Amino acid sequence: MDFKKSQELYNKGLTNLVGAVNSPVRAFASVGGNPLFVKKAKGSKIIDVDGNTYVDLVLSYGPMILGHRHKKVQKAVSKALKNGYSFGASTKNEIKLAKIICEAFSGMDKIRFVSSGTEAVLSGIRLARAYTGRDKIIKFSGCYHGHQDALLVAAGSGLATLSLPGSKGVPEGAVKNTLIANYNDLESVKAHFEEHDDIAGVILEPIAGNMGVVVPQNNFLKDLKKLVNSKGALLIVDEVMTGFRSNFGGAQEKFDVEADITCLGKVIGGGFPVGAYGARNEIMEMVAPLGGMYQAGTLSGNPIAMAAGISTLSELKKQDPYEKFNEIAKILEVFLLETAKKYDVKVTVNRFGSMINTFFTDVHVTNFEEAQTSDTKKYAVFFWEMIRNGVFLPPSQFEAWFLTSAISNKDLKNITKAIDKSIQAVSNM
Ligand SMILES: *Cc1c(COP(=O)(O)O)cnc(C)c1O
Repeated sequence: MDFKKSQELYNKGLTNLVGAVNSPVRAFASVGGNPLFVKKAKGSKIIDVDGNTYVDLVLSYGPMILGHRHKKVQKAVSKALKNGYSFGASTKNEIKLAKIICEAFSGMDKIRFVSSGTEAVLSGIRLARAYTGRDKIIKFSGCYHGHQDALLVAAGSGLATLSLPGSKGVPEGAVKNTLIANYNDLESVKAHFEEHDDIAGVILEPIAGNMGVVVPQNNFLKDLKKLVNSKGALLIVDEVMTGFRSNFGGAQEKFDVEADITCLGKVIGGGFPVGAYGARNEIMEMVAPLGGMYQAGTLSGNPIAMAAGISTLSELKKQDPYEKFNEIAKILEVFLLETAKKYDVKVTVNRFGSMINTFFTDVHVTNFEEAQTSDTKKYAVFFWEMIRNGVFLPPSQFEAWFLTSAISNKDLKNITKAIDKSIQAVSNM
């Protein structure tokens, strides 16, 4: 396998792009080597500029749940393109997509579309503050909610617990109202509520997917909801990754927990830039033009993106692939564990629905601290051997692998073959 053209483009890209990427997660910093450049994709496969074909388990970090260039989505987008790309005025399809989404989430009467997950979450936080008249927000260590200043803390370092910024350029003032708790640890949330009486909301990923996959244990989500509401605060559930991915109604439906505010993104745009936040009427009526919380967007509700979203969600509803995802993820889990045993490599596999992840540790991973026990050098070797065997994984230990409904039995066979070789490579390190 040859990466010559990717190399050339990478070197060219360095001149006018930062690290030749437009999102740092696409850089290969933690696995070594240089990023691959993609030429095109179809169904479950992605093809790089050197002509190498991979089974795609990145899927644009989640959105491409139906696979690339699904017939129906492509048709809907082509049709929408004929009418124009952006109007700065309302269109019928915004109402249609809003209805599909509100019907899927029990606690959602109204929704506002934005253009990214980051925007969805920063607006959701503003809304919780507007509604409660309070300032403080609790987030969990290891959860990612986009790159807004206030939540760029607790990327896991020791600084995290001190609420120090996790990124340069974030002023201390921007995170002084951000409190950090530990995932799956209700007591750590209680402690904050005992100390502060001005907490507006608690935000979390209902199934964490940005520290590897970490699943809520026991009744964590239900107990959290009860606690948060008993203190007059709101539960903000960031389903940017899990919405329409873990199942149609998101993780909330799966765990029977109703968010006060839900943030969405990724799948709802079918590969186009869309985010959204939604809640009950009494909360959403805080938002301008009905209420005093300002939030706006030139390209919000973009007609091409709405067409892609509607066709993606309609097709998903029809396919109902969630049980199939579960079965495939289970097959992969069993295979990973058996292969690791065969080659005497320690792994922990976490999965939920179409999200799965392998940590190179024997620790049971239920929070960020435990996730960090994974040997990332082993992941780097594993990653490259998977690439060489035709499977595209995220170039980071702490990103989820995603499944698409376009995956075939042959793909699955190729993945398991690649896993065997890659775990063997790890054992030979
Ligand atoms: C991807 C993601 C975001 C950010 O969405 P962008 O579209 O990248 O801005 C926020 N929250 C979660 C849980 C995500 O997975």
